[in-house]
Amino acid sequence: MVVLLAGGAGYIGSHTAVELINAGHEVVIVDDYSNSCPESIKRVEEITGKSIASYEADVKDKAALRKIFAENDIDCVIHFAGLKAVGESTRLPAKYYRNNIDTTLSLIECMKEAGVTKIVFSSSATVYGDQKPPYVETMPKGECSNPYGWTKSMMEQILTDCAKADPELTVVLLRYFNPIGAHSSGKIGEDPQGIPNNLMPYVSQVAAGVREQLTIFGGDYPTPDGTCRRDYIHVVDLALGHIKAVEKILKDNICDAYNLGTGKGYSVLELVNTFSKVNNVDVNYKIVERRPGDIDACYADTSYALKELNFKTTKTIEEMCKDAYNFILKNK
Ligand code: UDP
Repeated sequence: MVVLLAGGAGYIGSHTAVELINAGHEVVIVDDYSNSCPESIKRVEEITGKSIASYEADVKDKAALRKIFAENDIDCVIHFAGLKAVGESTRLPAKYYRNNIDTTLSLIECMKEAGVTKIVFSSSATVYGDQKPPYVETMPKGECSNPYGWTKSMMEQILTDCAKADPELTVVLLRYFNPIGAHSSGKIGEDPQGIPNNLMPYVSQVAAGVREQLTIFGGDYPTPDGTCRRDYIHVVDLALGHIKAVEKILKDNICDAYNLGTGKGYSVLELVNTFSKVNNVDVNYKIVERRPGDIDACYADTSYALKELNFKTTKTIEEMCKDAYNFILKNK
């Protein structure tokens, strides 16, 4: 299959590109490099030994998309393109709604024009809102705590409505839990611009001496050690989930959502302590007040993804911590 990765130079897109190529597929990447760089595509080429057709373009730009669909025989699209900084989305909601929703609409309209009927969408566990975990796909979606989350929820709705209206359109919504870690080569990984918003890049940067101290948001949650629990999933496992999704839409005409998580919750302190232990490095931290919008615990029910996609994670929290540190040491 030829798979177009919209936003394919980013953290999850680049790991998915590697696994798609390893599984024998061909990839085409379109990315505007607003939160990534062309170097990551070069690194994917180094890892896989294959060259990749790539386009620098904004996925909102329909003229650019038309050219890509005309020049390549695309079978399927995986849509990763979008702004994802939760805090910024609260400050600049219009920017997030405009960008993320326009991007999805341009993509879906150009797919329709080009006769491409299969799309896998990069969604998030944030669409469940604040409910009692584990999160199951049959739960109604919840109230998101920020505009970024609402864009994910709205994009799921847009794609679901488009699939209802067009019986040929096949849609897989992948609800990611907390992807962390990096490719074992250390060539690709999470490389946020500026101060990291997410926990693992912050922990890695403190451990590597790039930043002085981690602030842990909240020590008084109703969890065993008082810090929030999340379902951390190795980014390579997550990438393999996309291969399962692509295999699924090759054979079934569906519109469905699947959780990509491990089903296990780790607290912030458990993650930090595991990171210190497996990498034999200190992580200086202090516990401060809660971050607005955070929920105490979030983890997946993984049974539906196992049943429908035959998706199962294999990598441990220790491997996630080792690979994240290896990446920062090789790229600081
Ligand atoms: N977190 C933290 N310090 C940081 C970044 C995150 O304590 O600098 C905590 C955050 O409060 C949450 C967990 O780490 O409990 C995971 O946060 P992240 O932003 O990585 O993902 P989220 O679950 O919010 O999508």
